[in-house]
Amino acid sequence: MDSLLSVIRKHWGYDSFRPLQREAMTAAMESQDSLTVLPTGGGKSLCYQAPAVHRDGMAVVVSPLIALMKDQVDALSECGVPAAYVNSSLTAQERMEVAGRVRRGELKMLFAAPERLVQQRTIEFLADVELSFIAIDEAHCISNWGHDFRPEYRRLSDLRQAFPDISIHAFTATATERVRRDIGEQLKLKAPRILVGSFDRPNLLYRVERRHDVIGQIREVIDRHPNESGIVYCISRSSVEETASTLSSLGYRTLPYHAGLEPDRRKANQEAFIDEKTDIIVATVAFGMGIDKSNVRYVVHAEMPRSIEAYQQESGRAGRDGLEAECSLIYSGRDTSTWEFLINQSENEDNRVTSLQALGRMESFCFSSVCRHRQLVGHFGQQLEKENCGACDVCLNEIESLQDPLVLAQKIISSIYRQEQRYGAEYTSLVLRGSKSKKVLTNGHDQLSTYGLLKDESERDLRGWIDQLVAQGLLRRSGEYSVLVITDTGFQLLKGELTPQLTRPKTRRQAASATHKWEGVDRGLFENLRQMRMDIAAERGVPPYVIFGDMTLRELARFRPTRAGDLLQIYGIGQQKQAEFGGTVIERITEYCLEDDLVTNLPISDTNRTARKVPPDSFRRR
Ligand code: ADP
Ligand code: ZN
Repeated sequence: MDSLLSVIRKHWGYDSFRPLQREAMTAAMESQDSLTVLPTGGGKSLCYQAPAVHRDGMAVVVSPLIALMKDQVDALSECGVPAAYVNSSLTAQERMEVAGRVRRGELKMLFAAPERLVQQRTIEFLADVELSFIAIDEAHCISNWGHDFRPEYRRLSDLRQAFPDISIHAFTATATERVRRDIGEQLKLKAPRILVGSFDRPNLLYRVERRHDVIGQIREVIDRHPNESGIVYCISRSSVEETASTLSSLGYRTLPYHAGLEPDRRKANQEAFIDEKTDIIVATVAFGMGIDKSNVRYVVHAEMPRSIEAYQQESGRAGRDGLEAECSLIYSGRDTSTWEFLINQSENEDNRVTSLQALGRMESFCFSSVCRHRQLVGHFGQQLEKENCGACDVCLNEIESLQDPLVLAQKIISSIYRQEQRYGAEYTSLVLRGSKSKKVLTNGHDQLSTYGLLKDESERDLRGWIDQLVAQGLLRRSGEYSVLVITDTGFQLLKGELTPQLTRPKTRRQAASATHKWEGVDRGLFENLRQMRMDIAAERGVPPYVIFGDMTLRELARFRPTRAGDLLQIYGIGQQKQAEFGGTVIERITEYCLEDDLVTNLPISDTNRTARKVPPDSFRRR
């Protein structure tokens, strides 16, 4: 184990294991089949990379996405680990070169797309190679119970027979029991070690709010993160286009991404985001699988996702580097109808029922006033240890549960009843708020006993409650005009036989965050180093985060080391990176600190690292 740690220290510059990494690595070292389930950002890659470096021979890594393979191989090269990939993007010549390196035993890892790996000639070729083990990344793609089934993954079940003596190690972030079992069966794992990590992502701050001014609500999040990377998800291509162009016109560096764009443009936009040439990408769910960018600081859902699994995946793209990040979900009752329409249109009968159930659970998530972290881990069968997560709108006390929800709901529902159940939410809110609008007056609805009954409430709150009543099954939206209809349970409520739950957002919040790791960091130096990172990355044709993660830059800008040897103590700097970039880093730090009169070479220690103990300004000489 100590030797594994020294491998990690030497190549990656980390000095401890993350939870379950040690166990997962042991399985790979001892050739015992395994299935490791860790959330996004949990550090799955290192679980096979470190043993692959440590063991003799070459490991084969199956990965579904071409773009990810290239990034992984680039990142490994920057850490001084020889690796290569084979997929359809390579020319015949390039493939031959890789084959040569494999034959000469030069590689520690070979990344391959599943369909290529199971080809007869690949199997025959690999039969003569000393293999250490096979790792299967994103293993849930093998299960059609998962959210991301890929038929070509099914063929991986041939691997066991093709390589009977080589252990197989599967990795996924999808935790449902069913998918887990499916992976084991499909891959024919032999008495696998099953390692399931905690699904909580404590560094993510979750908020859910009803949509009332979508651009304003998105801007509120963006404005908390100037110059930082974020993703805004929308359901449809047209809302992507519209949102992206509005944000651009407001001066935000924004690009759109969806399947309807020309492939070249789509690729260019994705790369601009990865290379930090744009801050914001507005996208459909088509965006994300292919990127591993570690420093996404916020993910906004401008519309509700289709399931909790999808939400966990998409929001999980924030804060992979473990630093604080923000996930905001902005929903409206209409999103449910949109998804219902899409599901009914695109899915066969079997899948439809499952999809609609998943949608229902997503909706309940939005309306619930239970801690978001608790709900998310609960969905995956786990419990949250702490009482108060300190990182969601519920625990931060940003929403208020109403004291007398029954009477309020009765007022709303009886108005709908008196309006003969022929109008939608907007109109209902006009009546209840006592509007003098022409439509209400012409209909004579100013004569209803419910007219003006809630005139002191804001339209925003009222519409929110109607959505909540729909989500709780007391009302139903019907037909093209989303007319509100009272359900059987709705009538029970009118009789006072049951009580709903109604909430309202409190007026504004601080930008609270669970784990702020900016203490002691000189922001100016951080920005300076960020620019340096971009320059190095551009020169080498790799994404910036492959050079240094944000955590590394923050430590550099906090401790400001100017001695080459000290760089190795910085998070994320191993021998190779020290040798390659150390000179440039030290030059930058020295120059900046001299000019700004900042003290350099602060003591690097773990307490200073995590701590709030480094007061932000006390180290300035002036
Ligand atoms: P996953 O594949 O599980 O989503 P990654 O493998 O991409 O997660 O790891 C997320 C981040 O955590 C990466 O930046 C990785 O380098 C970092 N990381 C992984 N293991 C460790 C460790 N033991 N110590 C510090 N950082 C780590
Ligand atoms: Zn919470």
